[in-house]
Amino acid sequence: MMAIFEYAPAPESRDLVDIKASYGLFIDGEFVDGAGAPFKTVNPATEETLAEVATASADDVDRAVRAARKAFGGWSALPGAERAKYLFRIARIIQERARELAVLESLDNGKPIRESRDVDVPLVAAHFFYYAGWADKLEYAGFGTKPLGVAGQVIPWNFPLLMLAWKIAPALACGNTVVLKPAETTPLSALWFADICRQAELPPGVVNIVTGAGETGAAVVGHPEVDKVAFTGSTEVGRIIARAVAGTGKKLTLELGGKAANIVFEDAAIDQAVEGIVNGIFFNQGHVCCAGSRLLVQESVQEELLASLKRRLATLRVGDPLDKNTDVGAINSAEQLAKIRELSAVGESEGAERWSPACELPERGFWFPPTIFTGVAQSHTIARDEIFGPVLSVLTFRTPAEAVEKANNTPYGLSAGIWTEKGSRILWMADKLRAGVVWANTFNKFDPASPFGGYKESGYGREGGLHGLEAYLDV
Ligand code: NDP
Repeated sequence: MMAIFEYAPAPESRDLVDIKASYGLFIDGEFVDGAGAPFKTVNPATEETLAEVATASADDVDRAVRAARKAFGGWSALPGAERAKYLFRIARIIQERARELAVLESLDNGKPIRESRDVDVPLVAAHFFYYAGWADKLEYAGFGTKPLGVAGQVIPWNFPLLMLAWKIAPALACGNTVVLKPAETTPLSALWFADICRQAELPPGVVNIVTGAGETGAAVVGHPEVDKVAFTGSTEVGRIIARAVAGTGKKLTLELGGKAANIVFEDAAIDQAVEGIVNGIFFNQGHVCCAGSRLLVQESVQEELLASLKRRLATLRVGDPLDKNTDVGAINSAEQLAKIRELSAVGESEGAERWSPACELPERGFWFPPTIFTGVAQSHTIARDEIFGPVLSVLTFRTPAEAVEKANNTPYGLSAGIWTEKGSRILWMADKLRAGVVWANTFNKFDPASPFGGYKESGYGREGGLHGLEAYLDV
């Protein structure tokens, strides 16, 4: 990759994690075998097999749900302050084991260690600390204090441990017990979390982890003893789950896809906006539901901004996720890489102009260079579909009203970004953008105290903050 000067390699030690050859399911406080055929989880940066992981059959899921049901009585009857002690303990253990968890997450997911170490793992701990704080104060939150029962939770591969924290921390704080299914390509950090639950002496059955593919997820969602379903993933699977849950009385929250507009006005601080654009779409290889995948730039500054952005992209380091200098890591799976390639090819065939910096990609593993498409029209597939990769579609606008119209012209509505020096314009825009989160002069900033969730096909319900409690209480 072209660089102003070369960096010496700065690899984090892989030896910080001791990965066993195989892993079972975590049910009722024990690691047990699964009835399904085990599957392999690989390091997407090298294609090396990391471990073999058990597949939970419908019977295994049933065992997990029964364990959670049995544990619910005792867990929900604990005073909030007692539940808080466990959550605080889990949060502290996560901090103590932060380096190990960061290395593990980078190995299994492909994300740069800089991100797993500085973003994912600290936010995971922060979520447990935050909801530990609510556990004994539920009566002040305004949603009552009655938990729902057993929560069935299905999460994706882009932020494996962070999505687990978003799901488990509020559920436990409110007195629910959980059965969680991590994604097939990234099961390891959830299994490490199971070990952390044991270390924290969490009562058996309060947290159960069932690994497997989509069928395991469907078994969790469809189990009649599950009272609440929480899902993060694709809109397509979200629809299947909404249909499965309809009419059952189960409470449901869905965090689905996005196609966020990152809107840069001519009065924005351009260098700052460039950093925000890079963070918006190249953070976590663009495997981010709220990624700023559509750049809307005011026509008058388009040329200047794009020149600056291209200069910046030429300095991004793509490669070994465990190297502390790496900015862009590996694509999570061969399937995801194929999807990114396919949509990028569609972008070209529909007439948009494709650009990537000169970039040497490793030979093994799943890689895609940071990519920009200019000359994108609203009708183009790459302006409408979620690519979920390091690919930015650039569109232009002339007036704030046009920016709003284009930003809202999407079936999704998860997030948006506004870059301008005018506070009044930020407020005017934020009011009109149909997006759950609107960032101003920043992007992809997360905080456990701040609610997160979407409009339209981005799903419903809120996670995080005070609002996140509502999903786990019988309001
Ligand atoms: P999915 O929505 O299929 O996966 C999310 C989770 O749901 C995984 O744990 C998955 O298991 C599980 N699952 C799959 N099918 C079912 C089912 N019928 N019932 C219950 N659970 C199920 O996402 P993919 O990994 O297939 O990614 C496909 C696309 O979705 C990506 O290319 C991306 O565009 C988008 N995506 C969006 C995310 C977001 O946060 N907005 C997150 C992830 C993906 P398993 O892993 O075994 O398939």
